[in-house]
Amino acid sequence: MSEDHDTLSCTAFQAQLPELIGANVNLSEHSHLQSCELCRALMADLETIAEAARQLFPIVEPRDDVWKQIESRLESEDDRKLVEESENYHKTSTPQSS
Ligand SMILES: [Zn+2]
Repeated sequence: MSEDHDTLSCTAFQAQLPELIGANVNLSEHSHLQSCELCRALMADLETIAEAARQLFPIVEPRDDVWKQIESRLESEDDRKLVEESENYHKTSTPQSS
């Protein structure tokens, strides 16, 4: 039975999945996926789950940058406010002495 040789059974394919994903194999080009609708649907499900996981646990790295940007923006706004406030304070506090 040479036909069985290049079309894996679903269980055999799914057993290989973690290995294939780990090896960064382009699964959409896998011969079993191309011939098996069932496993294509399974892969679509897995991708949906992976996508949902990415949204639930966003990558941490860029967040540092975002926070730094927010922080520096807040700081520059605070600085401007402080300058304005101290100028006002100066103006309202001087008349008595002059
Ligand atoms: Zn299959």
